[in-house]
Amino acid sequence: MRVSRLMLVTLRDVPAEAEIISHQLLIRGGYIRRVTSGIYAYLPLMWRVLSKITAIVQKEMDATGSLQTLLPQLHPSELWHRSGRWHGYTAGEGIMFHLVDRQGRELGLGPTHEEVITNLAGELLNSYRQLPISLYQIQTKFRDEIRPRFGLMRSREFIMKDAYSFHSNEQDLQSTYNDMNRAYKNIFKRCGVEAIAVDADSGAIGGAASQEFMVTANSGEDLILKSTDGKYAANLEKAVSIPSKSKDLDYEDFKLLDTPNQSTINLLCKEQGIKDYQVIKVILLIAQLENAQKQPLLVSIRGDQELNEVKLSNALFTETGQSVISISTIKKEDIISEGLKPFPFGYIGPDLSNELLKGANSWNQTFLRFTDKTAASLNKFICGSNQLNQHRISDWKALGGLPKTLEIRNAKEGDSCLHDPNQKLIATRGIEVGHIFQLGRKYSQSLKAFFTNEKGIQIPFWMGCYGIGISRLAQAAVEQHHDELGICWPIQIAPFEAIVVIANMKDTLQKELGEKIYSLLKEKGVDALIDDREERAGVKFKDADLIGIPWRLVVGRDAEKGQVELVRRSTKEKNLLTPETAINKILEEI
Ligand code: ATP
Ligand code: MG
Repeated sequence: MRVSRLMLVTLRDVPAEAEIISHQLLIRGGYIRRVTSGIYAYLPLMWRVLSKITAIVQKEMDATGSLQTLLPQLHPSELWHRSGRWHGYTAGEGIMFHLVDRQGRELGLGPTHEEVITNLAGELLNSYRQLPISLYQIQTKFRDEIRPRFGLMRSREFIMKDAYSFHSNEQDLQSTYNDMNRAYKNIFKRCGVEAIAVDADSGAIGGAASQEFMVTANSGEDLILKSTDGKYAANLEKAVSIPSKSKDLDYEDFKLLDTPNQSTINLLCKEQGIKDYQVIKVILLIAQLENAQKQPLLVSIRGDQELNEVKLSNALFTETGQSVISISTIKKEDIISEGLKPFPFGYIGPDLSNELLKGANSWNQTFLRFTDKTAASLNKFICGSNQLNQHRISDWKALGGLPKTLEIRNAKEGDSCLHDPNQKLIATRGIEVGHIFQLGRKYSQSLKAFFTNEKGIQIPFWMGCYGIGISRLAQAAVEQHHDELGICWPIQIAPFEAIVVIANMKDTLQKELGEKIYSLLKEKGVDALIDDREERAGVKFKDADLIGIPWRLVVGRDAEKGQVELVRRSTKEKNLLTPETAINKILEEI
């Protein structure tokens, strides 16, 4: 390929729309162009990167025995009604684009394919003899993300590899899950990115196990907690730990304390001379449930801890049997719009009366109360008195006993690990590039996808699902591999492996030697690019650095001596060599 024919438009300035380095470099390097919010054109250079990643993914998926397929992107709403996900995915903060066709039928644009594939499996697979089956596809997914950002990292239209497996029993599912785990490790390694596998939340209903693959990067949206010995890693949603110790309050008696203007834990601790871990923080939330109920929640947690909403959602599912669509904190305005009397915000205790909910417009009229273990284990503490400007010293007995106790806090950096209390958790950030998940029978049950087992009984499939964000992975590779000059692609996924730069196009000798080297490279099977533009050498070097081709062969003044300069992009190491030696060196490395 010739740079003169590549439609290459590079930018010197950092585009205003791009916050993180990989996004900036992909735009500046002429890889992607924004079409509208969260929607990007993959330009020819980018397409080559995506194709190389795709080829690696296909090889590894094929090796697991998974069959490639291609499913429709338009999904009839009926399938999503049957799984019970239509409402959650289309109403409120739902992320499914949806439309009505000319016949008045509702359709959704596929954000994921459990419904479509489970229904197909139910129709096509009747007997345990046909199992296990695993299918995968690589296609564009649509998600109307609430906050599309960072270019291809969180876009509204992106390329995903998604695979689904069907099994007659759980052990068989586990075995395929392990195969996928290995395949994923190979894929990321072969793509030249460093990804770590972390435990992830598998929801309250779903399956037994779930792992995410994270490319570690400071710009990552996910927080990962891992142990110092590397034996444990989980994302924040899932991570567990031993909480830091607390110390009981010194105060002798139970009493009311006047605490005007001490409505936050910080102010209260400062004024009362106590520690945050001696206070019970009470959080007031409203949960939207799948059955459209709005359930007020009162959560008690130790003052130095943070609530984990995923763990809370799971607890709520166990309690109510309903999936949680959303959880948000209750604000003063919400109380007013529910037509309720004012709440003592800043001074709420775990025993806040249900009376306050009487007559609510749309909310359920009793609180569901949860206590985190850290709060439950305090013998004596300070908490709100349910009247403005007063807290009290109390214990659980005085409050009428312990509400339901669970683990619903975030683990945090510095906490001791469960597997070995001498190990501490450390926090890093990551970009989720893949996810493997033992779904269990959630979808096969709701969509009535059954097969006949060895005993002749009809039962739902055991299922797994396995995703990789192909376009996100391409950008994550840039986040991990770049320097001050531009991208440094790992060679396996670089759009081209080598670029021949003719320094002076007016010099016939340089031009001829450049062309000769280019032909030789192609003959030897190297993915080569030649910069044959009538531009200054400096411009060409800058562009070559920016677009990040792993090897650069500069044909300049030394052409007279029959020599070229071979530059390794990642280390900037330079060597003057004969064309043959230079080409051999590249071939060796490929
Ligand atoms: P996230 O938590 O980042 O939103 P997710 O849990 O919704 O991801 P999955 O439904 O498991 O993601 O999708 C599989 C993979 O697709 C993810 O691991 C990720 O790499 C990729 N992906 C998900 N959403 C997007 C998006 N909006 N843009 C680009 N890639 C995405
Ligand atoms: Mg998502």
